[in-house]
Amino acid sequence: MSDTKLEDIVSLAKRRGFIYPGSDVYGGLSGTWDYGPLGVALKRNIMQLWWQMFVEDADDMLGVDAAILMNQKVWQASGHVDTFTDPLVECSNCKGRFRADKIDTSKCPTCGKEGTFGEPRQFNMMFKTNIGPVDDENSVSYLRPETAQGIFTNYKNVVDSFYPDVPFGIAQQGKAFRNEISPRDFIFRSREFEQMEIEYFVHPDAWETSFELWVKRVHEWCDALGLPAESVHELEVPESDRAHYSKRTVDFEFDFPIGREELLGLAYRTDFDLMNIQNASGKNMEYRPKDGSAPFVPHVIEPSFGVERAIMAVLTAAYTMDEVNGEKREFLKLPNHLAPIKVAVCPLAKNKPELVAKAREIYAMLKKEFGAVLWVDSGNIGKNYRKMDEIGVPYTVTVDFETLEGETKDTVTVRHRDTTEQERIAITELVEKLA
Ligand SMILES: [Zn+2]
Repeated sequence: MSDTKLEDIVSLAKRRGFIYPGSDVYGGLSGTWDYGPLGVALKRNIMQLWWQMFVEDADDMLGVDAAILMNQKVWQASGHVDTFTDPLVECSNCKGRFRADKIDTSKCPTCGKEGTFGEPRQFNMMFKTNIGPVDDENSVSYLRPETAQGIFTNYKNVVDSFYPDVPFGIAQQGKAFRNEISPRDFIFRSREFEQMEIEYFVHPDAWETSFELWVKRVHEWCDALGLPAESVHELEVPESDRAHYSKRTVDFEFDFPIGREELLGLAYRTDFDLMNIQNASGKNMEYRPKDGSAPFVPHVIEPSFGVERAIMAVLTAAYTMDEVNGEKREFLKLPNHLAPIKVAVCPLAKNKPELVAKAREIYAMLKKEFGAVLWVDSGNIGKNYRKMDEIGVPYTVTVDFETLEGETKDTVTVRHRDTTEQERIAITELVEKLA
């Protein structure tokens, strides 16, 4: 388990504008979270990194962005209507509702009474809604509980448009919704969340090679997030715990503050999904190899990533407590490429127009280069450094009187977050040094 306490991360995330409880001003809405100015930047950096690594930089991947609302036949064919359920129990005394597999059902965790739970009933976790003005069974739809089906239902479209060689993958990022009985542990298990999923289509005889390749790619992803290798664990899921169609599943677990829990999953799904679609839609899902060999329905390797879990892992790995000059310091050691703010620029005094003008010039230059640059002209310099540390800004550039004249003219102080060291750098070299 990580030494970091979950409440420290939750508190910093709220205080500094990363993540707020959803609908906070109205007392909240259980299982929802809102991203503040720094949180949305961190989230986008993570999602963009994923898209770059797995789609843009890859030769065998294509992207899609399917609608959240889908024809109800999608969820009938996939099995979600019948089996996407959790066991629900209700206390006959206080009416509290719980997931039967998450509590000791001999005693109610809310009121403490014993023997108040009956047999669990299966509770479907999809959010149900109706499409259009008529509220009947033909208009039923659902907020998608996973993004994967948006990929499978577009498999034939993509093959018809692009005719890629097998193996190839289709990637998608987007929102998914699950009506969790008891959302918990900050953003780890929420009712609305974001997924990044890939369906990788292979020849049935070649799945093992592709699976091994994806194990490697997943580790590269964890490295790119700055997660220490010793905190990432592969769990070979035993047959008894796997979905019935899966021949192999590896869960990648991470040492979160709540314990060792799933960060992402890698599953071999055979031809389960495409065959379901073929049977339910009557459309042929076979792939015809360009060399004229026998057509086949591709099998699928599915790496499935949760954005919130990636964010929580990144924050856990980055959260650091140390001591500087005898004072405790709390800071985020975020990798530079994920940090919401790349550089902060501070004029040493805000009532000296010459100094402020020079600092503005440097700010504009850095902003053009790095985008996410913060202007900070309040408080004393020591306090500013602490604030920048807390939100994970890798470098703070201070423009002082020495910038304006003497031997140090046109140099600035660059202060490094992780070491707190300061160095004098020529303005002309700044962009190169901070890149
Ligand atoms: Zn009770």
